[in-house]
Amino acid sequence: MKTIARWGVTHSVCPVCQANFEPEPGFYFGAMFISYAFSVAWGAALWVLLYVLFRPDSNTYTMVIAAGVVLLSPWSFRYSRVLWLYWFGGISR
Ligand SMILES: [Zn+2]
Repeated sequence: MKTIARWGVTHSVCPVCQANFEPEPGFYFGAMFISYAFSVAWGAALWVLLYVLFRPDSNTYTMVIAAGVVLLSPWSFRYSRVLWLYWFGGISR
């Protein structure tokens, strides 16, 4: 339960190499746009999967895609921040 409750918590420094994960206040604001792109990509992938496998009605598309995007949001949250940090955080490796 502890890991589920703490999915949104980010270390302020890397526990291994002490790299700064919070270069400035509000640094991860832009990661929201990457997270949105992930959500759109997941939604499109789920739509294609449903279309190819089941050809369901439009309500099923809506419910499955909404549930899928919500369930994958912790993943999107984490990886959008990772990409943002790599691209704009000044960490070279
Ligand atoms: Zn590190």
